[in-house]
Amino acid sequence: MRYYSTRNKNEFVNFTIAALTGLAPDGGLFIPEEIPLYPANVRSSLGSMDFTDIAFETVKPYVQDIIPNNALSDIVQSAFTFNAPLIPAADRYCLELFHGPTAAFKDFGARFMARAFSYLRRGEDRPLRILVATSGDTGGAVADGFFEVPGIFVTVLYPKGRVTPLQERQIAGLGKNITALAVEGSFDDCQQLVKAALADEGGVLKTNDQKRPALSSANSINISRLIPQAVYYSAAAGRAFSGNIDSDEEATPRIKGSPYPSEIKKGLITLCVPSGNFGNLTAGLYAMKMGAPIKQFIAATNINKTFPDYLNSGEYLTRTSQVTISNAMDVGAPSNFERIAAHFTLDEMRRIILGVSVNDDETKETILRIHKEAGYFLDPHSAVGWKGVDKLLTENKIDKSDVFGILSTAHPAKFSEVVEPLVGLPPVPFSLASAMERTVNAKTIPAEVPALIETLYENK
Ligand SMILES: *Cc1c(COP(=O)(O)O)cnc(C)c1O
Repeated sequence: MRYYSTRNKNEFVNFTIAALTGLAPDGGLFIPEEIPLYPANVRSSLGSMDFTDIAFETVKPYVQDIIPNNALSDIVQSAFTFNAPLIPAADRYCLELFHGPTAAFKDFGARFMARAFSYLRRGEDRPLRILVATSGDTGGAVADGFFEVPGIFVTVLYPKGRVTPLQERQIAGLGKNITALAVEGSFDDCQQLVKAALADEGGVLKTNDQKRPALSSANSINISRLIPQAVYYSAAAGRAFSGNIDSDEEATPRIKGSPYPSEIKKGLITLCVPSGNFGNLTAGLYAMKMGAPIKQFIAATNINKTFPDYLNSGEYLTRTSQVTISNAMDVGAPSNFERIAAHFTLDEMRRIILGVSVNDDETKETILRIHKEAGYFLDPHSAVGWKGVDKLLTENKIDKSDVFGILSTAHPAKFSEVVEPLVGLPPVPFSLASAMERTVNAKTIPAEVPALIETLYENK
């Protein structure tokens, strides 16, 4: 498979270059030359295949010329050691994407990416340093994914005082090859610093010096984080289509003893994706184009509704982000928009994707109501998705008789500051409880390029 930048259709790179460089040199995002179709036999068995087999079949066409089958098989087996169950709750499904080590869906992309990077860099002596800016969830997933991977160092930049205590421990509690920098500034400042360092402003980092680590980034602009996220869409859609539904009552955050819905629908599913930077939705669009049985998508945002507004007006107007209780989606200029727009025209987008925006009061009200009515705990991001479906149903924009699935993007205990005062907490997963025990070890730096560079030198 060849990849090109969203800003230049005439030059191609292979998967290795696309993954290891992250952002294209012209500032665009790498996309595959074409979106491959599942072979017919795979497509018809999505509802019964093992998750790792679906992962193998989904990723294979994107990396075939670079990663041989046996290596790819090892990568997906070791990356996806947890499931993505499709759980019935009230009148719809929740696709629970929070059973990985940092309890948010970003584990899928980050764990695949870490293992793919190790493979792509095999035999390479020069170390690699990955810089990642985070508003909270990405940093923890990337740190966890790359923890103790030989030859790779990770520096996570997060806005000091603006991540939750749990997120800070996930980012700054691991040590070893993971360095945490608490930046005196906002998420945008962190992202600016990373971009400046990657561009090696003024050449001070001498990124061509073979004795120093090469630099790369791991934000969701990286295509190697996005492709593996298509896997759970295909798995879930296949199961909803064939009626092969999980009932993992132990793992699911429900009130003990609350009943499963008696009638479970099957058919073509409409999936609602709580969205911020739109990496997750882009992966869903890839799964649909590959042939997964998906009817439609709903892009649910909080009040940062750049994309829903675009679908309405046809005009793409980015703005500065506003703070909400679903803070992983506080994005005013979603970077993956550029990818979606490269693959689809506005008319196509309008046919495939419905946009909806949900405010904080509606989000809280939904967490309360679903806990009461279905005994199910939603985190604030998943609650935005749930309410998004409700609003579109009320407006008659979608059909009540359809099959709906919400992507549950984080475990409710991950956002305990919001969830606990409203409805209490379900049992906290072991990985979160043990992360809370870690000691934060971060270096505070001002939001200035020289401070970052100095730290990168200290760390060798
Ligand atoms: C990152 C994140 C999102 C938003 O995903 P995008 O791919 O950026 O649209 C939603 N929910 C949670 C919990 C997240 O961590």
